[in-house]
Amino acid sequence: MIDFSIPAETEAIRRRGHEAAEKLLRPVARYYDEHEHEKPEEVINALWENPTIGMSGLAHAGGSIGAVLLMAEGTWGDAGLMLCSPGVGLGGTAVMVSATPEQNERFLKRFSGGKPAWGAMAITEPGCGSDTSAITTTAVRDGDEWVLNGEKIFVTCGKMALEESDGFVVVWASVDRSAGRAGIKPFVVEAGTPGVRVEKLEKKLGVKASDTAALIFENCRIPYDNILGSPEVIDKTKTAGFKKAMATFDFTRPFVAAMALGVGRAALEFVKETLDAEGIEIRYTAPRHELTALERDVMDMEANLKAAEMLTLRAAWMIEQAQLNELQASMAKAKTGLAVTRITQKAVELLGPVGYSRKHLLEKWMRDAKINDIFEGTGQINMLIVARRLLGFSREELR
Ligand SMILES: Cc1cc2nc3c(=O)[nH]c(=O)nc-3n(C[C@H](O)[C@H](O)[C@H](O)COP(=O)(O)OP(=O)(O)OC[C@H]3O[C@@H](n4cnc5c(N)ncnc54)[C@H](O)[C@@H]3O)c2cc1C
Repeated sequence: MIDFSIPAETEAIRRRGHEAAEKLLRPVARYYDEHEHEKPEEVINALWENPTIGMSGLAHAGGSIGAVLLMAEGTWGDAGLMLCSPGVGLGGTAVMVSATPEQNERFLKRFSGGKPAWGAMAITEPGCGSDTSAITTTAVRDGDEWVLNGEKIFVTCGKMALEESDGFVVVWASVDRSAGRAGIKPFVVEAGTPGVRVEKLEKKLGVKASDTAALIFENCRIPYDNILGSPEVIDKTKTAGFKKAMATFDFTRPFVAAMALGVGRAALEFVKETLDAEGIEIRYTAPRHELTALERDVMDMEANLKAAEMLTLRAAWMIEQAQLNELQASMAKAKTGLAVTRITQKAVELLGPVGYSRKHLLEKWMRDAKINDIFEGTGQINMLIVARRLLGFSREELR
């Protein structure tokens, strides 16, 4: 029998996360939205010291289901602050997926104890986003070192990882440009390494509390054993190198989907509370032909959020079962990104000026929602992955 109930211990973790989001994140959400690039020191320290929530809290959530529920609670509090909370992040996840036991120990121990640290991941370049075969950053072997050259943009927590902590960035660079994706490998560049610098911080539409950095690598030398996985370009006709990045995304996409869920729930709750305060009831049992347009809109928003949540929990559950979840992770990511973009826009529409005013957080949630349809594979790219998997097409056959 399929059991959709959340185990009591996971529910307790979620509830603690919710309380932390309510106390720590919500009260300062507007402040950091209006003070972009100001470091939310007090939030970072609180989340690091008491990991009930935040990226470091996910590791203590008792598994992937608990972690996605906690993520959604965090972004219900504030998506930008959640994104800039310290912890393994995308970079640390790439390490977990590809590293040797020695590298795991060397790179990940900084996330347990000591001062807050961040693990970022840099794939995107000025000339390359969805099409990763266009990566131009290079890694050339020189004795017992790699020399990195190139530019990465839109690196979440890039500054936190390299300048504000003893963190690292996992940089995707080509060891053989003629090999296409097969030549692309991940390299760990640690804070304090000469030859890497933060060029600028992006000014953004939403998630403004999160730093999004452009990084320049100029003859950046790192130890030879900072490459994750094999340096060998196995088969130039295949995409072996890049499969590691994809494996990272299979793991992280359900979490990005969960980020969207928290924002969508915040917006939906606000709409319902506002309607309730105005004495407007949503009649769930009324016959369909009697429903008002508003009732249908609210029910549609709720149904979409629930469907997105179910897909996300399924993709996370598959991680716990050690099942391949590429299809389900992309389904969850594509559905939640789109659903939450529409839910928050509809919420602003339904409440009119109340939704648009900066007096409330709803207009911010509409801005914060959109990123979920862009990073970790845009909505279109995730739908492409879903189509390929369902139809049995290769990347070359369906692009
Ligand atoms: C706030 C923020 C944080 C980010 N954090 C990170 C990070 O930490 N690390 C990192 O490496 N990157 C990060 N990114 C970059 C993000 O992952 C890319 O922006 C994203 O992958 C899209 O790439 P692109 O910007 O080059 O757009 P493009 O790939 O040029 O896409 C532009 C449009 O074309 C569509 N499109 C592209 N190809 C196809 C296709 N084959 N079929 C149909 N439609 C297509 C896309 O869906 C999109 O709508 C971040 C971006 C933002 C805004």
